[in-house]
Amino acid sequence: AALGLTGCASDGGGRGGETGGESASGFAADSLIGVALPDKTSENWVLAGGLFEDGLAEAGFEGDVQYAGASNAVADQQQQISTMVTNGAKVIIIGAKDGAQLGTQVAEARDAGAVVIAYDRLILNSDAVDYYVAFDNFKVGQLQGQALLDGLAAKFPDKTSYNVELFSGSSDDANAPVFFEGAMDILQPKIDDGTLVVVSGQTDIKQTATDGWKPENAQKRMDTIMQGSYQGTTVDGVLSPNDTLARAIITSVTDAGQADLPIVTGQDSEAASIPLIMSGQQYSTIYKDTRELVATAIEMAQDLQKGDEPATTTETDNGNVEVPTLYLEPVIVTKENAAEAYANNPELLALTK
Ligand code: BGC
Repeated sequence: AALGLTGCASDGGGRGGETGGESASGFAADSLIGVALPDKTSENWVLAGGLFEDGLAEAGFEGDVQYAGASNAVADQQQQISTMVTNGAKVIIIGAKDGAQLGTQVAEARDAGAVVIAYDRLILNSDAVDYYVAFDNFKVGQLQGQALLDGLAAKFPDKTSYNVELFSGSSDDANAPVFFEGAMDILQPKIDDGTLVVVSGQTDIKQTATDGWKPENAQKRMDTIMQGSYQGTTVDGVLSPNDTLARAIITSVTDAGQADLPIVTGQDSEAASIPLIMSGQQYSTIYKDTRELVATAIEMAQDLQKGDEPATTTETDNGNVEVPTLYLEPVIVTKENAAEAYANNPELLALTK
């Protein structure tokens, strides 16, 4: 069998199927579990890779953790998943690079009897997606929208209307529109009643999208907006869908010469953003504990190994089917609650000091 990064870590002691208690629909306890991750453009994915390697080995599985390469990422990920199927993976956990481009590969997985778990990002337009585990993405967007409003009210108590700009994520990520819809659920009424003024006029998801979730693309767009819409006026707030982009937006506003920084939202609780939150340069982030998400995905694999049905809380429409879904709760983090929010995470907690 092709060994993945943790192939040598499995103790291989028991032969799984030979020990008692394996149900007809379970599989051997040392089976191959594939994990296909999209890229390393934000910290959550980097963390997830290491946690999957360790966690799968600890659970006694043979893990194969792969990242799609930076160039040709979609084809790369398709190839990696096909290889996992060929190698006999029993479960394939996928953080999709492009949620709409994996139909063929997950169908192959289903035909081979492998279970597909969509991890963090939904896989769209396919019947062959068995489970979805993620933090509630719509809720993430709502928390971001509310944080923007709260931050503006606190920073500018005398203003009755605020100049804002809106950013969304990459259009090939099924999460990006959900984050944006969640945020607009809160912000649209405030745009309609004139509380928020999007000076650039760019409120459509096509206009606000950030290709590949790349910070340089957000920075370029913000540079253009500052140049075109903020000569002689200031931007009070920016909806940023994650921390990587938040920092790029803050850099752009600073470069444009605006000394008093806007209220900027974020997501992921990245190590580089927490100090900015504590010093007041970035207003908020979202805590989605990657340790919890990875552990939940591995628990699903363990349930399946035993022949049990993994626990789910809801269903998510992927365009073809209702995918049984387990949503975890995202937490909004500002300077005010950071120490409390990260109380269970010493590394993040240390960054709040
Ligand atoms: C994840 C976010 C992340 C973004 C960019 C999304 O699918 O849910 O946490 O910031 O991808 O990597």
